[in-house]
Amino acid sequence: MKAAIYDAPGLPLRIADVPDPRPGPGQAVIRVSACGVCGSDLHATTPEGDLARRGGVLGHEVTGEIVEIGPDPVGDRTVGDRVYAIPLGSCGRCPHCRLDHPEVCPNQVTFGALGPDEPDGAYAEYLTVSLSDLLAVPDHIGMDVAALCEPLATGLMCVRQARLEIGQRVLILGAGPIGLAATIWARFLGTRRVVVAERVEHRRKLAMRLGATDTIDAGSGTDVAEQFAELTGAEPDAVIEAVGRPGMLNAAVAAVRPHGTVVTGGVCMEPDSFDHLLAYVKEPHIRTARVYTKDENRFILEMIETGRVDPTPMISHRIGLDALPTVFEALRTPTDQCKVMVMP
Ligand SMILES: [Zn+2]
Ligand SMILES: [Zn+2]
Repeated sequence: MKAAIYDAPGLPLRIADVPDPRPGPGQAVIRVSACGVCGSDLHATTPEGDLARRGGVLGHEVTGEIVEIGPDPVGDRTVGDRVYAIPLGSCGRCPHCRLDHPEVCPNQVTFGALGPDEPDGAYAEYLTVSLSDLLAVPDHIGMDVAALCEPLATGLMCVRQARLEIGQRVLILGAGPIGLAATIWARFLGTRRVVVAERVEHRRKLAMRLGATDTIDAGSGTDVAEQFAELTGAEPDAVIEAVGRPGMLNAAVAAVRPHGTVVTGGVCMEPDSFDHLLAYVKEPHIRTARVYTKDENRFILEMIETGRVDPTPMISHRIGLDALPTVFEALRTPTDQCKVMVMP
């Protein structure tokens, strides 16, 4: 099959022929229908991030069709099923997996090559997945839209960690896919003001389309906290940091109200200095957001299926696998792209 290989930081991905994957016990092979390009993949392949496995295949936001099921299967999936694969790589057999909580499986091997031991991901024609991580994609949802479930789950997790109550105000820093997904859920959950700070105008417009009540141009020199106060007459109850660059955590703490909540959704890959005195004065709750549950993913597919959320505008481009190396490099400088879907 064809796959996009990651060689080393600074080198573009390389399309190559590699052996077709075979399913092990409890696994299936899917023909990849859509795989989103994720900011983590971009971060992890920079000299500073340098986390991705060399020689590996990235890609973890994936839908596909089952073409083969391995020995000793769990569950009742069959060949031909359209599925969304949660990228956990759970074992399907431990007590947590048996209780439908693969997110706490101790045997996880998250696919997508974002670590030295992680198996290959979905920038390829075929992918090996765990049967216990699969959810059916409802017939009338496009496979590209269903693949948004992964960033939507990350955004939902950020909003869950923000502990927002109905009528509160949230500031979201950054309108990349995670910031936008958080925007969708903050709106959905009855937040009074959903204010998104973002430098790129196109992304601010997208944030408004997806549920922001206001946006702030976060370009050079803007005091985001001051603008938030001007717009809403208050300080944010929660700040969701969805940029992941040095300095952003301090910016979030600086903006949040005393005793408010800061969520680190962006995940800075570099060491970052932290202003302890600022945090000392405000006593914010600082929460990280790492893993979503299988049931949250199920909920998201159901909300899309019933038309209660429509994340489709997040998809800005649909490309073939051959175009990926060039597009992947271009994504390092944001312009008009949001979520790029690779459709091999
Ligand atoms: Zn991702
Ligand atoms: Zn397990």
